[in-house]
Amino acid sequence: MIKMNIVLLGAPGSGKGAQAEKIVAKHGIAVIGTGNMLREEIKKNSELGKKAKQVMDAGQLVPDGIILGIVNERLKQPDCKNGFIMDGVPRTIAQAEALGKITKIDIVLDLEVSEKVIIERLSGRRFCPNCLAVYHVINTPPKKNGICDKCGSRLEQREDDRPEAVKKRLQEYALKTKPLKEFYKKKGILKKIDGGQPIEKVFSDIENAIG
Ligand code: AMP
Repeated sequence: MIKMNIVLLGAPGSGKGAQAEKIVAKHGIAVIGTGNMLREEIKKNSELGKKAKQVMDAGQLVPDGIILGIVNERLKQPDCKNGFIMDGVPRTIAQAEALGKITKIDIVLDLEVSEKVIIERLSGRRFCPNCLAVYHVINTPPKKNGICDKCGSRLEQREDDRPEAVKKRLQEYALKTKPLKEFYKKKGILKKIDGGQPIEKVFSDIENAIG
């Protein structure tokens, strides 16, 4: 059991969600996954969900104010006291600066992957619109083709995993998120991880990094 505040940094498809799941399963810390939080809102058809859906489907970033609002609320929940892992947040310098004022980040794991791997992972990714479980048609397929192992719902492709949106997401990443590497490097808490390896090997490198 570790008690650490961890940020997972990396391009779309770098494996942040998969690794966050493994860290949570092993160490029992809280997960703060803004993409999943927003998809929950979309599922509920809330005002926030309606606002976020258009932006997300187009592959753009949701405004900082909205993200900081939901993360701030999440951090107030008691399970975050024993450490947390942030998956997909911060994604801009403004988010990182604001976060630095409300919580302390111990380590930032930078999952590095080639563009070739990103495209392979995103084009084969499928998700369950009901329980949000994630699969990959080749790397981690469900037992029954196209059906969620956990709840039996029919799997779908994320709207933003389609080629046009992927292109936009990679541009957004390069422009707005990549500068976070330098931001956290200067703070001396950035650790590079080779995210192109098989899931288990990436996880063991992460385990070594967080000690
Ligand atoms: P993800 O599931 O992490 O790939 O996020 C899916 C989408 O949700 C992103 O492409 C953004 O539109 C939105 N999103 C998630 N987290 C953030 C964030 N920290 N800042 C801005 N937009 C976000």
